[in-house]
Parts: sequence; C-alpha cells; structure tokens
Amino acid sequence: MSRIDLSRTGETDLDAIARISREAAVRLADCYQCGTCSAGCPMSHEMDLTPRQLIHALQLGLLHRALEARSPWVCALCQVCSVRCPQEVRIADLMLAVRHAAKRAGLRPVREPDVFDDIFVNNIRSRGRNNEALLAGFFNLKSGHLTQDVRNAPRMAARGMISPRFNQVRDRAAVRNLVDKVLRKGGGTV
Ligand code: SF4
Ligand code: SF4
Repeated sequence: MSRIDLSRTGETDLDAIARISREAAVRLADCYQCGTCSAGCPMSHEMDLTPRQLIHALQLGLLHRALEARSPWVCALCQVCSVRCPQEVRIADLMLAVRHAAKRAGLRPVREPDVFDDIFVNNIRSRGRNNEALLAGFFNLKSGHLTQDVRNAPRMAARGMISPRFNQVRDRAAVRNLVDKVLRKGGGTV
C-alpha cells in the first residue's frame, strides 16, 4: 500500500509515476543505470538519492521513495545530467516533475527552495520582474533565516545589486497571464 496520500489527485502510484514521466518527457525504461548522471552532478553530495537512484526508484514503482526524497529540492536544474546521459534521459526535467508531484501530494521535504520559488514567482506576477531586495527580505522572513545576508546588504546596495526602487514592466498583465499559464501547466506549482 502507498505511504503517500494521493487523495488530492485521485491517482494511483503508477498513475502518478506515468504523469511524472509524461511531464518530464522521459521514458523511464530508457535509463540503463550507468550512473553517468550521478557522477557529474554538482549537488549529489547534498542528495539522499542520486539522480540514478531517483530514476531507479521510479522504474521500480517506488513512488514514495521519489516523493519523499530531498534530491529534487536541492537539484540546481543545471542540466549537466541531461546533457551527459548517453540515453538522452531528461533527468533535470524529471527532478522538476517529481518536485511538482511531491507538492501535489502535500510533501515538501526541503522547505527553503519552495519558499524561494513562491516568492520569486509572486514577484514576477505582481511587477513583471524580480526585485532582489524584496526577494531576499521576504525569503529571510518566511524561511526563518532572519539575519541571513544582512551584513552583505550595504555592499550589495553600493554596487547596485539591490535597490529600494521597485521597477516594474509596462505590461504587467501580459507577464501575469504568461506566468499563470505556466503555473496551470505545472498543476499550480513552480
Ligand atoms: S546517465 Fe542516463 S542512462 Fe545513465 S543512469 Fe543516468 S539517466 Fe540512466
Ligand atoms: S540538473 Fe540537478 S540532478 Fe542534474 S546534474 Fe544538475 S543538480 Fe544534478
């Protein structure tokens, strides 16, 4: 029996795995477990399942292993694994699709990347562009890392890296529509 509550989506484990594969445009059977993806991954030291192990869990139908893993949340989406895979398996896209599936199931094994993504997307939705000062401020507040980077703020401001001016694009509605379209495609998650 599944250890993941998929009642929100009405999917079985196998349905959920099929959806993950579809969203990432990955055929799980293409992976022959060579490990090239894991060998080149710059974030594998932070992962509980290497990219190879994550895809193996999905091949075996172990949905809960994939959805409970930290790996998709610490993945930098750098694409090194996808570029190096001899079978052209799009592993970076698979990481993102697993992250979406975990959110749909109400799971968030690592909180900070999700907090960051939500604030970033809201920034873009409301102003059409990101503002680094707002992003950092809200992230510190919501993640509980209140004083993170505070010492760097004056230097960053002096170099123009952060600014109290909240610039926005002219056609904010067009950007908002675009973002909402992408969010709908991802099942409401970034
Ligand atoms: S590099 Fe490709 S074929 Fe090799 S383990 Fe990773 S996903 Fe599978
Ligand atoms: S995309 Fe993610 S899994 Fe792939 S190499 Fe980069 S950090 Fe690792």
